[in-house]
Amino acid sequence: MNDTRLVFPGDEVAVEEEYYSSDGTFSENGIVYASQVGVVELDDKECVARVRTRNPPNVLREGDIVYAVVADIRNTMATADVVAKEGTERSLGCETYATIHVSKISPNYTDDVSKELRKGDYIRARVTGIKPSLQLTTKEEHLGTIRALCGKCKTELLRRGEKLYCPECRYESTRKLADDYGDVQV
Ligand SMILES: [Zn+2]
Repeated sequence: MNDTRLVFPGDEVAVEEEYYSSDGTFSENGIVYASQVGVVELDDKECVARVRTRNPPNVLREGDIVYAVVADIRNTMATADVVAKEGTERSLGCETYATIHVSKISPNYTDDVSKELRKGDYIRARVTGIKPSLQLTTKEEHLGTIRALCGKCKTELLRRGEKLYCPECRYESTRKLADDYGDVQV
């Protein structure tokens, strides 16, 4: 017997004689109440009452593909601000500050972060860890820089082989490029 009515914190959802309090609920004086907005789920097998949120917070998990903007380049890592999770337009309800260690940028050995990523680059990356802080990798073929601007004139850089060049000032630079750089289909 599942309910499709929306309940609010404090609404009565069950009696403890029949159901124990579980996710999204609390019990008081034998009554189970909702502790969050959501839909009631009465589990007759486990004898528990839950309140499920209809739009769970958009959080990141290990393995997720994300889009991020490189914020800073340091000796052993790049920092980036995650702007979206692939497959969803909803904003993220979690930490968006991420780090990419130099060993996680390219499948080839590199000891110079600035040869692989630059401040302001748009990247596609995979989440490799969320605790104690958000960590990303761009090692895979489909991961890496997907859009970059010239550091001198801000023109969008074009791909030439494995490098990028500026059509305006002809400045050339290297990146860990995603295989679809310049041709990203959303
Ligand atoms: Zn330029």
